[in-house]
Amino acid sequence: MSAPTNRRTAGGSPRLAGDAPHLDGARLLDVLGEISRIGAQPGAGITRTGLGAEEAQARAYLAKRYRRDGLVARTDQAGNLIVRRRGADPARPVLLLGSHVDTVVRGGRLDGTYGVVAACEVVRTLARLESAPAYEPVAVAFSNEEGARFPYPFFGSLGLTGRLDLARAATTTDRDGTALPDALRTAGGDLDTVGAAAWPDGAIAGYLELHIEQGPVLADRDIPIGVVEAITGRTIIDITVHGVQGHAGTTPMSLRRDALVVAAQVVLAVERLATGRDLCAVSTVGCLDGEPNVTNVIPGTVRLTAEIRDGRPERLRAAERALVAELSALGPATGTRIDHDLRRVTRPTRTDHRLRAAVVAAADDLGLPHLEMFSGAGHDAQIVARSAPVGMVFVPSRDGVSHAPQEHTDDDLLVAGADTLLNAALRLVADRW
Ligand SMILES: [Zn+2]
Repeated sequence: MSAPTNRRTAGGSPRLAGDAPHLDGARLLDVLGEISRIGAQPGAGITRTGLGAEEAQARAYLAKRYRRDGLVARTDQAGNLIVRRRGADPARPVLLLGSHVDTVVRGGRLDGTYGVVAACEVVRTLARLESAPAYEPVAVAFSNEEGARFPYPFFGSLGLTGRLDLARAATTTDRDGTALPDALRTAGGDLDTVGAAAWPDGAIAGYLELHIEQGPVLADRDIPIGVVEAITGRTIIDITVHGVQGHAGTTPMSLRRDALVVAAQVVLAVERLATGRDLCAVSTVGCLDGEPNVTNVIPGTVRLTAEIRDGRPERLRAAERALVAELSALGPATGTRIDHDLRRVTRPTRTDHRLRAAVVAAADDLGLPHLEMFSGAGHDAQIVARSAPVGMVFVPSRDGVSHAPQEHTDDDLLVAGADTLLNAALRLVADRW
């Protein structure tokens, strides 16, 4: 195959070296700039929630833009935009590239959208391949990844991989009572025929998602490319400490069973899981609710949540076990009763070594330093991973900020990430693996 030879015009660091092909960086930034107007509110970021009019508008914009380039663009029954080369062999297994174009409420311009635009640009660039690739490059914008309005996140990727829970979808509504099936119909999909959006087994040879990191690791270390080793799994443990409510003036300290004091020990125990004990990547008590929450009353009951995350299943399990053991000991030791309810929200998802290797080789070809790392946030890739091997590429997020209007990545880093996606895709579509 002959490699595309577009050179980006912008200079600046990081420098791109060697003969690795580049995509049209100016165009990438131009499309990103135009799409970021859709759902934008002055001073309040972008609100383009899934299955809404703005998400549909973003899809329509992309479809129109890439049809002008000779690509084929269609929206499926799950509200996903699919962009592919004209005349491609439909039986050829697909290298799927993409992310999502929906946002949270008052979100940034890059989360998801960057990966979709880069994927479309890569497919456009690869449309000039002279020989037939082993795998067909196809771009996708998954619908409703965030679940910000309709609380059914990853809707599009679940639809495309045939894993939607139809009963749940049928009964999901937004806060105003609008039903998901009605919104989906307005957005160009159809829940009644959504099964047709599911790709057959084996149709996806691999899925590669480019995304902003949404955390501070790459920016902190000044590394342009993150190669995602795994998307972290997440367990939530709902904890209730039952103490004895009492008078704050008349109850001697030695006779108290203060639920909040015990809850404070739980908070520190949760923190220690990831710090002193190094059992998991991160651990958080984000929610704590005491009763009766009155100044002169000893708290009788406290409810709190422990959220723990790690990219390795065995570590996540070890951290869960350690916390449960600590809770079991803390109750009797403090004269309180501690109930807990363990919910495994998502399992850790490992990326595929072949896709990781392609990303590493691409970054090396481009002279870009890279770092193997975990993703602390969830992504469509973890859904697709149940059906096909997946890989993820990260670029730095300034100050680690995301899901906020201040979300930012420098233009040269956005282009470097997209070039990495292009070069990884070039390797992957060319070879059987
Ligand atoms: Zn995202």
